[in-house]
Amino acid sequence: MKSYRKELKFNTKSRREFINITAQVQQAIDESGIKEGLVLVNAMNITASVFINDHESGLHRDYERWLEKLAPEKPHNQYDHNGYEDNADAHLKRTIMGREAVCAITKGTLDFGTWEQIFYGEFDGKREKRVLVKVIGE
Ligand code: ZN
Repeated sequence: MKSYRKELKFNTKSRREFINITAQVQQAIDESGIKEGLVLVNAMNITASVFINDHESGLHRDYERWLEKLAPEKPHNQYDHNGYEDNADAHLKRTIMGREAVCAITKGTLDFGTWEQIFYGEFDGKREKRVLVKVIGE
């Protein structure tokens, strides 16, 4: 069995952002030379997510509104976590949207269902964050 590890780096201009990283994950698979296996893609920070869904801007606005209803950013003092930080909402949003995605690799490509794409979800941006891509197989 072969394995390959790669880190992707992100530094978003805004506090919250969704970024389609499907092409970067496929590139890591290409670099690995693995044709049959699995790829794990996980956020390496606890205020960011990796998830799979549709590349559709209306849906992304719906996510933003829905997450703000569940865990509104402000007022910052509504959260016990916000003593020295102001990112309690980002931790909660990350929990809902998930830490990682695992995808099958078949014939060297992501074996997706219809419309599936991989996204990086940033909830406390404007600083460097990392995503781990781990490919295993043969
Ligand atoms: Zn925090």
